[in-house]
Amino acid sequence: MAQVSIVKVENGNIKGAVREAVDLLGGMGRFVKKDDLVLLKPNLFVNQPEETGLITSPSVIEAAAMLAKELGARIVIGERTENVYHNLADTDLADIAEIISFDEAPRHDIRIDGARGLYFDVPMPKVVGECDVFISIPGLRTHALTLMSNAMKNLMGLLPRDYTQLVHICGLNESIVDLNMYRPSDLVITDAIIATEGNFPGKAKALPLNLIIAGDNPVAVDAVAAHIIGYQPDGVEHLVDANQRGLGPIDLAEIELKGCDLKPLCDQFEKSHTTISEYAERIPIVAPAICDSCRQALGCGLKQAEEQGLLAEISNIAFVCGPVEKLPEFDSDTQLILYGNCTARWRHHGEYVRGCPPQAGRVVSALRKCLNKE
Ligand code: SF4
Repeated sequence: MAQVSIVKVENGNIKGAVREAVDLLGGMGRFVKKDDLVLLKPNLFVNQPEETGLITSPSVIEAAAMLAKELGARIVIGERTENVYHNLADTDLADIAEIISFDEAPRHDIRIDGARGLYFDVPMPKVVGECDVFISIPGLRTHALTLMSNAMKNLMGLLPRDYTQLVHICGLNESIVDLNMYRPSDLVITDAIIATEGNFPGKAKALPLNLIIAGDNPVAVDAVAAHIIGYQPDGVEHLVDANQRGLGPIDLAEIELKGCDLKPLCDQFEKSHTTISEYAERIPIVAPAICDSCRQALGCGLKQAEEQGLLAEISNIAFVCGPVEKLPEFDSDTQLILYGNCTARWRHHGEYVRGCPPQAGRVVSALRKCLNKE
């Protein structure tokens, strides 16, 4: 049975909480042995102070690295972008680990068996395939496109920078699961000391939770984290897909919980803005068969546009989303925004936004283009 532990950080003792969370799973020795090559994958792709909740706390990474180092392991800390260096510059981690940006690390092309999004050659950092132990150290946050971001989505940082866009074209949720099929995390240590809530990747805010969530299965950890955010795991597309592909349980009955009682910790987050109904009253949105991912991304993007004052200026713009057999008729001066790969066949009829789903921020750029505000 998958195990997930939840530990409260008491009196700022982050290292103690990480150790306790891992000990509740049987201790680091259950995962790491002498001379193992251990890859730690934190979430550090932006250069931000940890108080923002947008990066994994360096103290959590230090605690995990020390536990593995005590056992005689060789440690590599890797993340996309050079921000891994900036964010860890004030730590002593360079004394016990090699710190690498995946942007500079050697890569080789891999194929992922059974991939549903990344079904082509994927340039993967070699160290991901070479490591004996893979430890994911994500931060917990809401996310408009995937509802939540934690252990599973953390692996998106293994891809090269220019693949971010490609993944949105090929299927974001499917690609997240594909990456986890290629290299499932042996251990997850979630930094939920300061989480991120709200309309991420739009306007989001820090949410102090003071928790460490650890587990021996990333799907199980994310299922527990989903409850803490306030989602049922069977409503989170990439968790359902991962479960159906045999990567781990999402039903709490199949997860052994240790440490803090989960129930009082549930439903704590302000969610991302993922609905479009209130905008559909003001803007023509033709979306007869839109799927949840596109609806969520569009809802998040329209919220961002509203916050930037763009919606007040709209008078002759309409959105078409999801599969449509026939383009609806509008006045000749109406500009169409064709949102998502499903509308590709109509792309010559307006401003086409590619992606499956497209990134939420591209709603704003499409609107700016139509409004001549680029
Ligand atoms: S592009 Fe089509 S298939 Fe992809 S998320 Fe949007 S509606 Fe769904």
